[in-house]
Amino acid sequence: MPADAKHTSALRLSFGADLEREFELHAADKRLHKIRITLCLAMLLALGFGMLDAGNTNSVSGGFWANGSVLLIMVLLGAALAVTHLRAGLVRYCKVAEVLAISLGLTAAAGELFGAASFGPMALTRIMLVVLYSYHLLGLRFFQAIRVNAVLYVAYGVIGGFAGMPLPALAAMLFALALVNAVGATLCFSFEHEQRAAFLERRMLSATAARDGLTALNNRRRFDEHLNTVWPLAQRDGVPLALLLVDIDSFKAYNDWYGHQAGDDCLQKVAAALRDAARRPLDFTARYGGEEFAVILYNASRSYVSETAAQIHKNIAALELPHSNSAVGNRVTVSIGIAHVVPSLHRSAQGFVQLADQSLYQAKEEGRDRSVSNNTAYDSLKTGIFRINRRA
Ligand code: GH3
Ligand code: MG
Ligand code: MG
Repeated sequence: MPADAKHTSALRLSFGADLEREFELHAADKRLHKIRITLCLAMLLALGFGMLDAGNTNSVSGGFWANGSVLLIMVLLGAALAVTHLRAGLVRYCKVAEVLAISLGLTAAAGELFGAASFGPMALTRIMLVVLYSYHLLGLRFFQAIRVNAVLYVAYGVIGGFAGMPLPALAAMLFALALVNAVGATLCFSFEHEQRAAFLERRMLSATAARDGLTALNNRRRFDEHLNTVWPLAQRDGVPLALLLVDIDSFKAYNDWYGHQAGDDCLQKVAAALRDAARRPLDFTARYGGEEFAVILYNASRSYVSETAAQIHKNIAALELPHSNSAVGNRVTVSIGIAHVVPSLHRSAQGFVQLADQSLYQAKEEGRDRSVSNNTAYDSLKTGIFRINRRA
């Protein structure tokens, strides 16, 4: 997606469905933590107001805060707090947050409005606090906060009217509420917009950081991350994992003969020919380093692995890149070392890579431009010897 389009969607405060979900879950723990703190603060505030009213016999709301409504508010906030502790807490909280905010708003303000005859600045302060809380502190998204406050605004007007609030006081309250809503909504919008823009920026940066600059394939860092993800997954599921290490033959000679720039072009073309090797969801292609590439195939049968290797040789041959200095022929070719194992508990992902490296070494020894697959040496593999041998 072009940067502009991303910016626009951040401004509209909505992404496509998948990205929206990613955004929702982004920093979920941090968001939940903040929500819990503000819920606890809200409990303290409600208690504080309750005590204030209990100690004030001339209370404008006739001790309302000290009685039922404080209890109800506590129950609502406690329920919200409990929801945040459930599995997938944030997703569940987001679903009930709107209803919660409306119930809280109505409970907290109804008493004030029913004591309408003596409606004073303290009551207005409390109602405004509720409005600001629902914009900024309950963890609602902008449109949720707007919906909640629209409902509360209408409800406050209706309740105030029915409770016999004098018209000038009602009008003044609605005017003040409209102003607080405008300020709350503006701040809420700009906060969410910044959050979304920062999310997109971070996402773009991490995507760039995961790419190899020359070939645009995944880089070595991403390869390590992916392997460390699928290794325990395959272990748990008891399914085989295949690693194909693809190394261009006589590439030093290619560079020496055609120049480094031509070498770079060759790497890009080989990378493009490899890109289709990983077609299923957990399959993966990366530039492993220098003129070596890596393909990981998840839960692949022996025949699928050898078909993929054969297809790679075919794709490279189809490029018909001349290499008159090759030890193999007059075209660019690759050797492929394959490890194909069901990960066992006493073996590591590093050992798996070494097994593929050993196969690659074997393929080079046997004459290059071929694939060699290993699975039997897996259990007797000595850590750390193959790559050192090959380099030597
Ligand atoms: P073998 O068939 O045994 O693999 O021989 P080789 O010459 O391909 O292997 P060797 O490891 O001796 O040389 C690899 C060469 O790859 C050396 C290095 O200059 C070249 N190389 C590594 N990275 C790049 C790169 O990014 N661009 C270019 N042009 N060359 C690179
Ligand atoms: Mg190499
Ligand atoms: Mg090579």
